[in-house]
Amino acid sequence: MKTSASLPIICLLLLLYPVCLNAALVTSPTDEGEVTISSKYRSLCQGEVVKIYLQSPVPVSATLSLDGKDYTFISDRNNLKYFVLIALGLDMKPETYNAVIHLESSRGVKKDIPFKLAVSGKTFPSKKIKVAGRFTSLAPAAMERIKNEKGILGHIYSISTPGWLGDGRFIMPLSGSISGAFGERRVFNRGFMSRHRGIDIRSPKGTSIRASNSGKVVLSGDLYFSGNTVIINHGIGLFSIYCHMSKTIVRKGVFVDKGEVIGYTGSTGRSTGPHLHWGLRLADTYADPLSIMYLPFD
Ligand SMILES: [Zn+2]
Repeated sequence: MKTSASLPIICLLLLLYPVCLNAALVTSPTDEGEVTISSKYRSLCQGEVVKIYLQSPVPVSATLSLDGKDYTFISDRNNLKYFVLIALGLDMKPETYNAVIHLESSRGVKKDIPFKLAVSGKTFPSKKIKVAGRFTSLAPAAMERIKNEKGILGHIYSISTPGWLGDGRFIMPLSGSISGAFGERRVFNRGFMSRHRGIDIRSPKGTSIRASNSGKVVLSGDLYFSGNTVIINHGIGLFSIYCHMSKTIVRKGVFVDKGEVIGYTGSTGRSTGPHLHWGLRLADTYADPLSIMYLPFD
């Protein structure tokens, strides 16, 4: 969504290798040696993606339970180091959470490893936005269409590919200034309020949009609110979302490489000017796509 107030231009450092924070969470002895749990993140606050690592002396299978959700660890290049990605949702209460890792070694030895994760709150700004009336006063045909599209999206997001389809770090899908931050409270036409579940990158119409990482295209089409949209499944419940394009050039079902052009910027759907709305959804939770730029995947 293009708005009059622009936030600062994307920092060049972010386009290179941004520095993330590391935290050792817990070290736990097991019958087969010491297991170490650690994390990497930009910030431990609402709206961020966090990577949790598990280093084990023997092969294991493991799940992380946090705030009512379970995440399955996957191997990180070798079978003794594992990771999960978690998204700290906008609605996640800022407090210290009791997380548990359920571990089972290849010899069948089980152990639960508890640790604490302190999630901070964040202040998100509010913005007033004027859009065409058809996006706030919905005609019956539009409501029917939106309902249908909601069903399609629900089905797409319900299919989580267990393996990791990405290829190294995430990249920005295009360069440009950020005209809309993640998590903003938006009031449309002085009425309907919603949270901004992605970031807006301002760019002239027709600019190439690139896949931020490798994965499978699970949607390429025109949606009522998000216009011409592409959704890429990166595995382990993570999807990147690209909206308001003038044109999409990838078909549903194909695999795209990181950096491959998937379409061009436009202003289709509920939009006030050419830009890319870039979103990230992980385990049914939207997170700030800029936060994943800080995480290593190598
Ligand atoms: Zn947006």
